[in-house]
Amino acid sequence: MPHLNSTAEMQAADAAHHLHPFTDTGALNAKGVRVITGGKGVHVTDSEGNRILDGMAGLWCNALGYGRSEIVRAVAEQMERLPYYNTFFQTTHPGVVELSGVLAEVTPPQFNRFFYAGSGSEANDTILRMVGYYWDLMGEPDRKIIVSRKGGYHGSTVAASAIGGFDFMHAQPGLPVGNIVHAPRPYWWGEGEDLSREDFGRKVAEDTLNLIDDTGVGRIAAFIAEPIMGAGGVIIPPDTYWPTLWAGLKERGILLISDEVICGFGRTGNWFGCETYDTAPDFMTMAKALTSGYVPMGAVAVSDRVADVLTEKGSEFGHGYTYSGHPAACAAALTTLDILRREGLVERAGSDIGPYLKAQWEALADHPLVGEAQMVGMVGAIQLTPDKAARAGFDDAVGMICREHSFASGLIMRAVGDRMVVAPPLVLSHAEADELIEKATRALDLTEADLRKDGRLS
Ligand SMILES: *Cc1c(COP(=O)(O)O)cnc(C)c1O
Repeated sequence: MPHLNSTAEMQAADAAHHLHPFTDTGALNAKGVRVITGGKGVHVTDSEGNRILDGMAGLWCNALGYGRSEIVRAVAEQMERLPYYNTFFQTTHPGVVELSGVLAEVTPPQFNRFFYAGSGSEANDTILRMVGYYWDLMGEPDRKIIVSRKGGYHGSTVAASAIGGFDFMHAQPGLPVGNIVHAPRPYWWGEGEDLSREDFGRKVAEDTLNLIDDTGVGRIAAFIAEPIMGAGGVIIPPDTYWPTLWAGLKERGILLISDEVICGFGRTGNWFGCETYDTAPDFMTMAKALTSGYVPMGAVAVSDRVADVLTEKGSEFGHGYTYSGHPAACAAALTTLDILRREGLVERAGSDIGPYLKAQWEALADHPLVGEAQMVGMVGAIQLTPDKAARAGFDDAVGMICREHSFASGLIMRAVGDRMVVAPPLVLSHAEADELIEKATRALDLTEADLRKDGRLS
């Protein structure tokens, strides 16, 4: 273990040797990185001794909070027994067998078979391979196109970046993956123009179906979407969006891939986001809260109708990862799922702490800087605006100002452009929800004061 004592020492060593993901490393090194040293419950501590409420559950993953020694013990015991074995060559191990059975219980009824990966990105890569294989086996090899959404996030491997809908990721070289078409997103505040929320939701769904028809249904392999777009700014769809879109997808026989990496395991108040929006996908991508982030793991849920074709018509599936079904990750996942069930945390997100937080969160819409404030289950966004009536937006820098004030006020909120987003651990108490709201309000007040001072808000 390194013995770096002061924050400055760690910042210097980090700057010298560490390249950060999704970071302008030059700018970060000039400023000095923040060092997180510990966590307990829903709070983390930094190297300066600050205690900060983690409103983002790490990176959306730490549903159970920090310091769950039950998970740590289960992983340690597993590693004593069998730290590693692979699942490639006609072998398995008890952890992965048990986890697959538990996942069959907690996922919607069409899912009874699971494939494992090391992350959400890898799980989506797996799905791309499987979808192509499925359509080949079905005698429809022309179905090669994946329809995805602008602003969607599906991970950061080459294929996952390409299916994702972030232009700045596409603009960086190294993405030679073709056969992807991007559909619009249901972002009413920014793109709804003079339509009502409901009419806009319907329109985006219909535009997506038209895009599918124009491309040719016989060329479409699948449609992939997050039930609620997460990293793209927690874009909570109008109520009309999913019913219209799902009816059209079903009618056309398009496979739906529900990327549940954020929405899964209780985030939206149900076990999976597709249950909140009443769709029946053929694939679900899972990661993040699957292990509460304690050990990396991704997984793919495959519907019976797809898995039957793969197992009955297919031969060897030429795909897999060294760490598919890693025993330590299985132990972390099994313990996480056991705690989620035993403590009723999914139900609690849907009917207790979720609604409690939502009531106060939505009231932030009265703040002069906030256009809309939405929450579903335990994931929410507030839209910053200089002009509510015109539904105007700020440039991205304003979100960053608010994020800095939030951190300094003892709350981690994430800024996505001019939307502030939260997804706190599901174990948040009522008092901690009050603390989150109090600190978010303070961050908004301080941001407002800054903007009035420099004239960006009149
Ligand atoms: C984070 C995320 C991924 C990628 O997961 P990694 O574990 O970072 O590879 C994929 N899809 C969604 C919706 C995500 O939020």
